[in-house]
Amino acid sequence: MQAAACAFHAEREALGVCVACRSRVCAECTTKVEGINYCVRCLAQRAQSEAKPKDAAAPPSRLRLGVSAAVWAVFLWLALWALLELAFPEAA
Ligand SMILES: [Zn+2]
Ligand SMILES: [Zn+2]
Repeated sequence: MQAAACAFHAEREALGVCVACRSRVCAECTTKVEGINYCVRCLAQRAQSEAKPKDAAAPPSRLRLGVSAAVWAVFLWLALWALLELAFPEAA
């Protein structure tokens, strides 16, 4: 049985299979993204499709800023309270 050749390099032996297009690819042509094999062609397509929705679906930054500010306020208050409790154990 002859080893399968890479879809991009006929002279090279294929070591993996692209999950997107099922092409057999050699070690040089395969890239692991989050533990999944992609060929160079599908990786380029993936990068293109990921670059597009970023501009369109921008989350409301004011809301996020407000939430993180509230989280920080609570965290600082708790830290201050813990610090006072440690400094003056008899006061409480
Ligand atoms: Zn592919
Ligand atoms: Zn190859």
